[in-house]
Amino acid sequence: MNYPELKITFLGTGTSSGVPMIGCRCDVCLSTDKKDKRLRSSILVQSKTTTLVVDTTPDFRYQMLRADVKLLDAVVFTHPHKDHVAGLDDIRAFNFFSQKPMEIYANALTEEALRREFIYVFNGNKYPGIPKINLNTISAEPFIAGDIPIIPISVYHLNMPVLGFRFGKFTYITDANRIDDNERKKIKGSEVIVLNALRREKHISHFTLNEAIKLVNDLNIPQAYFTHMSHQIGRHNEINNELPEGIELAWDGLTLIF
Ligand SMILES: [Zn+2]
Ligand SMILES: [Zn+2]
Repeated sequence: MNYPELKITFLGTGTSSGVPMIGCRCDVCLSTDKKDKRLRSSILVQSKTTTLVVDTTPDFRYQMLRADVKLLDAVVFTHPHKDHVAGLDDIRAFNFFSQKPMEIYANALTEEALRREFIYVFNGNKYPGIPKINLNTISAEPFIAGDIPIIPISVYHLNMPVLGFRFGKFTYITDANRIDDNERKKIKGSEVIVLNALRREKHISHFTLNEAIKLVNDLNIPQAYFTHMSHQIGRHNEINNELPEGIELAWDGLTLIF
């Protein structure tokens, strides 16, 4: 298969409040370890000719600066929660340099929220400097962004359908606590999977650490990284040392190449 070589960069690995959380004095939020500083969850996916980001978090601007991203071809959205869409306005800088609209890939649920929450982008207002986007509505069907083929995987975040994405050997799933059998088939054969693992205690809409570990084993994927972590999960180094072989906590700045 001629799948392009990819570089994946974790731009953020924190839950919606980020780590540290504003005002919190817990052991994790006070940690000086860089791996305990987690911006909101997002990854950068790059082939030789295409650079895309999964989600535009409230930290999107800083994430682009920190990863030194000079050109961005596309944004692929998982779901409409604010910690995954709030940074969309800042694609303006890329419009300015590329002189073209940003390619946006979103399902109908996310599209509806984008149209509501960024009404000025969609209402035909030609005010210079507003974000320029080209919206591509996606469903469960595979699609291609630039030269990167992508398979959407439908997962559940309590009752909300959320899209995970498979990029060749690499599967990225954030904000889920249930994956049906049909969708699991699409994941099988991945060499690396990213899953959300919020904390140890049960949560209504996210996998816990143990649920995520069990899922990696059930899917029989040799390498896994966890993301979307809360300060409640504990310090990176302590938790990471306890994990089974082949499973690690992701951290902001981690890169993988396939
Ligand atoms: Zn989230
Ligand atoms: Zn804290």
